[in-house]
Amino acid sequence: MDEASIEGLIHDLASMDSNTFLDNVGAGEREGRVACPLVARRNYRLAHGIGRSGDVAAEQPKAAGSSLLVKITNLLAADALVSAGLLDLGPVSVLPTATGMTLTLTLLALRPTRPQAQFVIWSRIDQKTCLKAVQAAGYTPCIIQLVQDGDELGTDIDAIKTKIEELGPERVAAVMTTTSCFAPRAPDRIVEVAKMCKDFSVPHVVNHAYGIQCRSLCELVTSAWRKGRVDAIVSSTDKNFCVPVGGAILAASKGRPDLVEMVNKTYPGRASVSAHLDLLMTLLHWGRSGWLRALESREQLFVSTRAKLSDLAASLGEKLLATPSNPISMALTLDRLVKEGSTEGASFLGSMLFARCVSGMRVVDSLNSKKVTVGSEEFKTGYGSHCDRYEHVYLTAAAAIGGKEEEIDEICQRLKMAYVEFEKKQGKRQPQQ
Ligand SMILES: *Cc1c(COP(=O)(O)O)cnc(C)c1O
Repeated sequence: MDEASIEGLIHDLASMDSNTFLDNVGAGEREGRVACPLVARRNYRLAHGIGRSGDVAAEQPKAAGSSLLVKITNLLAADALVSAGLLDLGPVSVLPTATGMTLTLTLLALRPTRPQAQFVIWSRIDQKTCLKAVQAAGYTPCIIQLVQDGDELGTDIDAIKTKIEELGPERVAAVMTTTSCFAPRAPDRIVEVAKMCKDFSVPHVVNHAYGIQCRSLCELVTSAWRKGRVDAIVSSTDKNFCVPVGGAILAASKGRPDLVEMVNKTYPGRASVSAHLDLLMTLLHWGRSGWLRALESREQLFVSTRAKLSDLAASLGEKLLATPSNPISMALTLDRLVKEGSTEGASFLGSMLFARCVSGMRVVDSLNSKKVTVGSEEFKTGYGSHCDRYEHVYLTAAAAIGGKEEEIDEICQRLKMAYVEFEKKQGKRQPQQ
């Protein structure tokens, strides 16, 4: 759709909300009153938000337009998920909270069904939000360390099984796995976890944060909920659909649809309509063909980014870590910058890149990391590398939706210049020492 048509539709929807009725006189305390005209315009006069006290997905009689907007958005989001490769899809709910908070809500919604459960078994991923999501829901996380295979870190299936047996399935609220993650971590082996969760009758929540943009990760989810148990997946709206931060998509399979409605009912109170509005406008702007094109160019971007970073690594005497299971993120070693056990050089390169306006590249220095505390959990070493000690110092880069080929070229160029500049400085300094 063109901009005028999208705006026309949003204006039509807004004119169905009671706060915009010409004859409306409000006698309540929640009448969608907006003082500042700028704020009214910024929100397309949509002021009622979404939901009712009992259910964030419920229709609001005072706001027929906003209620309709939510329904259309959820349906279009579901259609976008199917186009992306999530088959046998059941209910889909766009929520006005980002990924971490939506994971918390999801775990909270499970609570009444698991009266004896205190634990969430969690396959380690070094992203503080994931662990905080478990803690905020009031559960104790059982951290399952990953196993290394070549350069790659993957799910320890046996350790998850042992943990469920040790605790007793009824004391486990859920197993939480992650698909999209920074290399050298691989997506969790969610098909095997799903089968195990089915055997033990333990819920399985999948953090599919930026996984919607990747066909193979969506196929992995489809396979997991066909072959085993997946209660819900949670994905970010900003990371997958190029909208401002603010929303998440909660989805479940046709075979196990219940948790989505439970989460909608758990949500206390009304919520902002912003996440829906941004997503609706974006999906109408793209249309199905635009969305498919965006997905396709990301897949191509991944292939070319890999090739370009691999060439760059070779020219610097470094290497791209072998992480064949990760279809989004990759990691390039900085081992030549480690001098006599000191990894300061690699961190310094990180700050050089930051100063040169290269964002999103993280330098990870597992060998020299400080203690990191996330809530009640302490990681003495290695935090950031998804394990206690990873033998390479590296930087990560992602081929993410909306990224451009020219950006990758520019990043490679700036990275190369920074690396060479740093080496020169280091070379000059050495004779004086
Ligand atoms: C981004 C991300 C999160 C946190 O998402 P928020 O939207 O900031 O809550 C959690 N897990 C993973 C794997 C992520 O990439």
